[in-house]
Amino acid sequence: MRLQGKRILITAAGQGIGRASALACAAEGAEVIATDRDPALLADLAAPGLRSMVLDVTDRAMIARVAAEAGALDGLFNCAGVVVNGSLQDCTEQDWDFSFRLNVDAMFHMTRALMPGLLEAAEKNGAASILNMASMCSSIKGFVNRCAYGSSKAAVIGLTKSIAADYVKQGLRCNALCPGTVDTPSLRGRIASAADPVQAEKDFIARQPMGRLPTVEDMAPMVVYLLSDESRFVTGQAVFVDGGVTI
Ligand code: NAD
Repeated sequence: MRLQGKRILITAAGQGIGRASALACAAEGAEVIATDRDPALLADLAAPGLRSMVLDVTDRAMIARVAAEAGALDGLFNCAGVVVNGSLQDCTEQDWDFSFRLNVDAMFHMTRALMPGLLEAAEKNGAASILNMASMCSSIKGFVNRCAYGSSKAAVIGLTKSIAADYVKQGLRCNALCPGTVDTPSLRGRIASAADPVQAEKDFIARQPMGRLPTVEDMAPMVVYLLSDESRFVTGQAVFVDGGVTI
């Protein structure tokens, strides 16, 4: 049990990568606080050691309440984020602002609010770990039609490195997860809303060197690793789990 005795909070755990990660962390013995904006998505999320809490990460008052309740934390997975389409000219100012509000600002506020609890655990146990959800589409690689998304996820990598640098001597690590395109409910939504959904799915698969879309279960082991002490010498890294797209 690689996370035995660890207390971990995860955002956007209602579906997709966050949900799979919450279940994987619980299966590895962690006490998991699984949060999401949507209570309906948390209703059937259950595992030994897992409890759920409603949290919209763009709501500062909710963040403060959750931070007060969470107390000392060995791990934080800032998973919440949104994909907004459009090139520089196509994306609206609202899309741009919303992308940064959810993908970057909320991560900043969440991490600030939970930092006392993370540092408390780091001081007591000698280790704590933050994992921020970035993407291969960021400062790593440019993608067509992802101007606001890629820019905001690039900022996540910058934020991650800054936190890693500032807190390395206190035993707190911070890394960014950079998945490729993952088969999640939101990806299915993007495929369904394409002009030609069948072709859109084929196009997503065509850019996968391994010939298939990754599942959320392909992501969860890296989440467990980066939150566990097995990754104790890894900090400030953008870790790719992309099936070779960036080879
Ligand atoms: P998803 O988009 O299918 O689900 C998102 C979840 O986030 C939902 O449960 C939703 O209720 C929750 N959520 C949305 N807004 C929220 C808010 N304000 N506060 C709290 N929860 C909120 O899940 P996904 O595709 O696994 O994406 C999760 C993260 O992974 C995102 O940050 C996304 O950018 C990133 N990511 C996804 C992919 C992909 O291809 N799916 C690739 C790289 C990175």
